[in-house]
Amino acid sequence: MSSPPLVSPVSHPHDLPVLDWTHRLTQLGPRFFTHLQPTPVAAPRWAARNEALRVELGWPNALFDDEHLQAFAGNALMVGSQPLATVYSGHQFGQWAGQLGDGRAIWLGEAASAQGPQEIQLKGAGRTPYSRGGDGRAVLRSSIREYLCSEAMHGLGIPTTRALCLVASPEPVRRETMESAAVVARVAPSFLRFGHFEHFSAQGDMDSLRLLADHAIAHHLPECRERAVLWQGNMYAALLDEVQERTAKLLAKWQAVGFCHGVMNTDNMSLLGLTIDYGPFQFLDGFDPGHICNHSDHQGRYAYGRQPNVAYWNLYCLAQALASLIDDQEMTLQVLEGYKTLFPRYLGDAMRAKLGLVGDLAPEFEREADWTLVEDLMQLMAAEKVDFTVFWRQLSQAVVVQSTAVALTDAGWSGVTDLVLDRPRLLKWLSLYTERAGQNNFAAMGQQMLRSNPKFVLRNHLAEIAIRQAQAGDFSEIDTLYNLLKSPFDEHPGMQAYADLPPDWAGQLEISCSS
Ligand code: AMP
Ligand code: MG
Repeated sequence: MSSPPLVSPVSHPHDLPVLDWTHRLTQLGPRFFTHLQPTPVAAPRWAARNEALRVELGWPNALFDDEHLQAFAGNALMVGSQPLATVYSGHQFGQWAGQLGDGRAIWLGEAASAQGPQEIQLKGAGRTPYSRGGDGRAVLRSSIREYLCSEAMHGLGIPTTRALCLVASPEPVRRETMESAAVVARVAPSFLRFGHFEHFSAQGDMDSLRLLADHAIAHHLPECRERAVLWQGNMYAALLDEVQERTAKLLAKWQAVGFCHGVMNTDNMSLLGLTIDYGPFQFLDGFDPGHICNHSDHQGRYAYGRQPNVAYWNLYCLAQALASLIDDQEMTLQVLEGYKTLFPRYLGDAMRAKLGLVGDLAPEFEREADWTLVEDLMQLMAAEKVDFTVFWRQLSQAVVVQSTAVALTDAGWSGVTDLVLDRPRLLKWLSLYTERAGQNNFAAMGQQMLRSNPKFVLRNHLAEIAIRQAQAGDFSEIDTLYNLLKSPFDEHPGMQAYADLPPDWAGQLEISCSS
């Protein structure tokens, strides 16, 4: 299908820009990106508009009017935007993959917002010099998944790129079968990846590497300045340390909610510690540490239980890239060591919160005892592949129920004991848990647990239903899911079906890298 030319710029009113743009990234110079125009798509339609995010960012209504539909489709340019694609490299599935880059995501600029400057990218807006063999497009299926999961993660309190809107087009796109095109507008303070640093390091271009690191510190991670005190004033060691800590926090949150990313290549790792590049991700149904959500991941490199180690491996790649700037090998290794204590600490705290056992100041022996409790429970869940989300939510509910009883009873735990075959083993665990918690605390704990254990996550089969309806022209299920997932800890009366165990057909869904 031939593409119509880009139409005139979008502006409101009388050529005043709707967003207030800056372009600090462009100051880095042409080695970092290529200016280009999005490729228009035929007959765009709104598939979803994220009003809550628009309001949160303080952006005007006009952003979601018909003229902006053309801009978010890549058929027109917003006044003040300066579209470009950036270059990066990376390690994919453990191998150096060389140059990659934004092959289908087009950067429009940074727009001032109530939350500080936000970069906007159109994902699926056409080919770029970094597309390699790709068509520069994204299919509706994977774009719906990205739109919904970005907002689901945000609702869960997990750092992520956000999704502002989703535009669908009937334009055909070839994947395993013929599908149709879509463009997601995604938003983040920065889309910098580990791979951006690996790129210039691999090229031996130290000037660009330094420019990029200085840019990241000045505009996105100013806390590195203070952190440098811990590293003899070495700002680049502080940068690695900051990224390392954010990554450890992120991974703890992923693990605690049962999120599998699926493609943790270094080019899919955000410098800001955001979840980025939603592809074959999955929220666990049955708990299985070896679960592989990406059908293209034959070795299980990115299995759920391996994610924390893979993140460390990726940080190692970032460290190699930054090593010449840090210029102190021992210090670089010392920074990396941090992950080994930070990650278990964050995961421990996240799991303790799921059990209602909060308290950052808990002494070490208590944390260790709590971790034993967590491990025992996880082993029990793994043995039976108990549904991860349902179990934790039911446990939270059961604690609330028990808190209202005169005395604890086995029947009071039926919400969770009904979920397992080995009831005696779970009852034994529950008695240890009760001993640790002290029944008096149950009311407060139950409330805490209901805020730590979501009722709703974006299971594959839920996304699939929204996708099938959207492919048939009805986008309403996207909104239904969006409304649940943006407040996943709320009860949402009448929507229980969305919190139930997955249907049998969910096990047959195959999610690959193809997007
Ligand atoms: P991903 O696996 O989605 O993170 O993509 C890896 C690399 O392939 C990135 O450089 C993407 O920009 C690029 N890529 C993926 N799909 C396409 C596509 N359809 N067209 C062009 N580039 C793509
Ligand atoms: Mg990617």
